[in-house]
Amino acid sequence: MRTWSAPHIPDLQTAGPVPSVFDSRLHEIVKLPEDRESASLYVCGITPYDATHMGHAATYVTFDLLNRAWIDAGYDVSFVQNVTDVDDPLLERAEQTGVSWEALAEEQTDLFRSDMEALNVIPPNHYIGATESVDWIVPWVERMIEDGLAYRASGYTDDDGVEHPDGDVYFDVRAAADTEHEPARWYLGYVSNYSEREMGPLFAERGGDPERPGKKDPFDALLWRAHREGEPSWDGGSLGPGRPGWHIECTVIAERFLGMPYTVQGGGNDLRFPHHEMGAGHAYAMSKNRMAEHYVHTGMVGLDGEKMSKSKGNLVLVSRLRERGVDPSAIRLAILANHYRTDWSWTQELLDESEARIQAWRRVMTADPTDDDTRSSDAVITAVRQALAQDLDAPKALHALDEWVSQVEAGGPAGDRREVARVVEARLGVTL
Ligand code: ZN
Repeated sequence: MRTWSAPHIPDLQTAGPVPSVFDSRLHEIVKLPEDRESASLYVCGITPYDATHMGHAATYVTFDLLNRAWIDAGYDVSFVQNVTDVDDPLLERAEQTGVSWEALAEEQTDLFRSDMEALNVIPPNHYIGATESVDWIVPWVERMIEDGLAYRASGYTDDDGVEHPDGDVYFDVRAAADTEHEPARWYLGYVSNYSEREMGPLFAERGGDPERPGKKDPFDALLWRAHREGEPSWDGGSLGPGRPGWHIECTVIAERFLGMPYTVQGGGNDLRFPHHEMGAGHAYAMSKNRMAEHYVHTGMVGLDGEKMSKSKGNLVLVSRLRERGVDPSAIRLAILANHYRTDWSWTQELLDESEARIQAWRRVMTADPTDDDTRSSDAVITAVRQALAQDLDAPKALHALDEWVSQVEAGGPAGDRREVARVVEARLGVTL
């Protein structure tokens, strides 16, 4: 699938430090990658039924910071992202709004690309749609059935009297899990560290179907949904016509384009379970390998202190802010003013502060050079790079830049202003 155009990344003369990032599975900050010249990143993409809201934007900007940290440290980065361009929420929205699911997916994916472009997010090397990956998924699911790690469930009639056919395929979590809980092997809770008691409500909230009759275990995850009347379907070989589940989509795409284990799987905190948990389970079941070496998750973004959600109708959309004429660099700076692991809230005040900040930075960094003594600019450049290398601490990097800007505005030495601007563009992705 087409990606979006790449932002300009200034080439910095010296290599930056290797970053350390909080691994939410290990629950500690780790230096990554160690002892290698390359790094690989898989960031779960959107289901294109609604425009990019601030929570999505914050997640993609966070992993863009990691990507930029690796590039600055001299790593060769492979970056893959999917787009779940067929799934229940997309089909439901298409039906409600009376458009075809294909048209809705295309329109919203286009809007996403233009949001990412405006926010200076480096595009993935491979941007892959679920609909493009069906032929790769089918053999995996067939083999899982052969190996006794997946099974075909019988059809049933739901509470609304709708009949569901035989042939939905489920991942057998109990058959696939390592009961000894060895660190290198997958078990339920391997990624998320949640107890089964904590997993129960989350599984139901986040697209799971614990009550579905015919499953061996409530946590068994859907691998293949047999064709229903009125739903799109693909040739599933021995599985019969249908469409893939969400978790297997990411696992197969990641394996195909990055191999396993790759360096980091990333996404919002709400993907820890079941999405990343099940994806790791599928990977282990099929390859006896780990899916990713490290898991990195971002906090949730609210609006004015409230949870942002489609049902509340309080989504802050990047595209709508852009339509209002808000500078995308100010949006990006507002995101960066919050540490990626915290839950935070979008407010008008935050945007106002970011607009004032970018104006001050532009005044100072784009002004003509005034002195040759680069000690002042060298110090702020080092501070920015070090802050970002320590668990992507963008607020600390912004603070260092603010201090330097205030000193220069008060008549202090500036050093090489243009080099500071280049570092801001290369590392923070903010164009001045
Ligand atoms: Zn995913």
